[in-house]
Amino acid sequence: MGRAFVYVILGGGVAAGYAALEFARRGGYSRGELCIISEEAVAPYERPALSKGYLLPEGAARLPGFHTCVGANDELLTTKWYKEQGIELVLGTKVISADVRRKTLLTATGETISYKTLIIATGARALKLQEFGIQGSDASNICYLRNIDDADKLVNAMKSCPGGNAVVIGGGYIGMECAAALVTNKIRVTMVFPEKHCMGRLFTEKIAEYYEDYYTSRGVTFVKGTVLTSFERDTTGKVTAVILKDGRHLPADMVVVGIGIRANTSLFEGQLVMSVENGGIKVNGQLQTSDSSVYAVGDVAAFPIKLFDGDIRRLEHVDSARRTARHAVASILEPSKTRDIDYLPFFYSRVFTLSWQFYGDNVGEVVHFGVFTSSSPRFGAYWVNKGRIAGAFLEGGSRDEYEAISVAVRRKAKVANMAELEKQGLAFAIQE
Ligand code: FAD
Repeated sequence: MGRAFVYVILGGGVAAGYAALEFARRGGYSRGELCIISEEAVAPYERPALSKGYLLPEGAARLPGFHTCVGANDELLTTKWYKEQGIELVLGTKVISADVRRKTLLTATGETISYKTLIIATGARALKLQEFGIQGSDASNICYLRNIDDADKLVNAMKSCPGGNAVVIGGGYIGMECAAALVTNKIRVTMVFPEKHCMGRLFTEKIAEYYEDYYTSRGVTFVKGTVLTSFERDTTGKVTAVILKDGRHLPADMVVVGIGIRANTSLFEGQLVMSVENGGIKVNGQLQTSDSSVYAVGDVAAFPIKLFDGDIRRLEHVDSARRTARHAVASILEPSKTRDIDYLPFFYSRVFTLSWQFYGDNVGEVVHFGVFTSSSPRFGAYWVNKGRIAGAFLEGGSRDEYEAISVAVRRKAKVANMAELEKQGLAFAIQE
């Protein structure tokens, strides 16, 4: 049993949706020549909505409202749209092996799907507690958050314990966004993580302190510098408490785990060149892998960042998924007209009424600016490397202000005097 396509997009997440739109806009295929294969049962959607709109107690986001590409204020691609465009959606179908030499994929249903050109958009999976030697991740009240099924489990867990206690494991953006959602659902939250402060990969101590104080004011308790070792359970297997390495027992009606992700590269290991240090499939500036018929985009791809002098990075963020996907399609359809990608790394998050954006790289000396004490804050930081702006963070900015910091990073604005930069703060970027 088998089907043949010219173009196959493997994975049906954010990058797949944006790649499909780019194919449709460029008209570079005939009906029935392009397919998306996805383990998920639904057409591509804006994954960040799962920790934001989807978890709201009222007016929650539901499909089809957040299919791609609404997150970029673009068309809403429903299943009807794919049909109209002649793009085949092979949903609820896991690919279990790939043969790059033969250009075939084997699905769990036993079908062989062949391609001329493949775009790998398999994204990433949430790390599980079992991988750290802790048993019981499958309990009905332990939640992860990567896909709709996870989000539904989380919603049900919240509904089952109104006014109850949740323990959030991990202080990264999933942990922070889920903690905010739990509080909004009137559930008491304790966050546990081993680092000194939240969002340790990006935030400085001063920035983290602001968010931690804000969360504390909303009732969240932080337990830092320790990790969970095991669970207490009732007779049905449900977790009733989280046991920490420092001996503490935290009562828990539900647990949310956000301890990082791993790129889904396994189908291609040994067949395509990997970026071992980034944990992803290595691609060039055209998003092409070591096999010229295979491209990789989104969370799974490690690609060169021109702005960082060609340094290879794998980014786990939605903007990068959208842009690498579009760029790969341009490279495939118009290779001679498509230059190497020139991407400015961009991350954002929204929690409670707060909202921040970050551009560039968090390397070098840090200069903070703005007021960190206000309840309607507007503060930020620059990272200065070799006398130039390498990264910039801003909380509570306007559209123009975010644009200004992004331009300062993009231009690698020269910093003559650190004290002056601190004094000017946001004005430095605006005047640039
Ligand atoms: P994904 O969107 O993960 O899609 C991968 C797809 O591949 C999935 O459909 C998966 O089922 C499928 N797949 C994988 N393996 C197979 C296989 N073998 N066979 C078939 N199908 C397969 N980023 C931000 O910048 N800001 C945010 O605020 C933000 N919030 C987020 C909130 C949540 C809850 C999550 C989970 C992520 C968030 N992100 C955010 C990250 C962002 O969503 C990802 O960077 C983005 O989804 C990556 O897109 P992708 O297409 O590469 O991977």
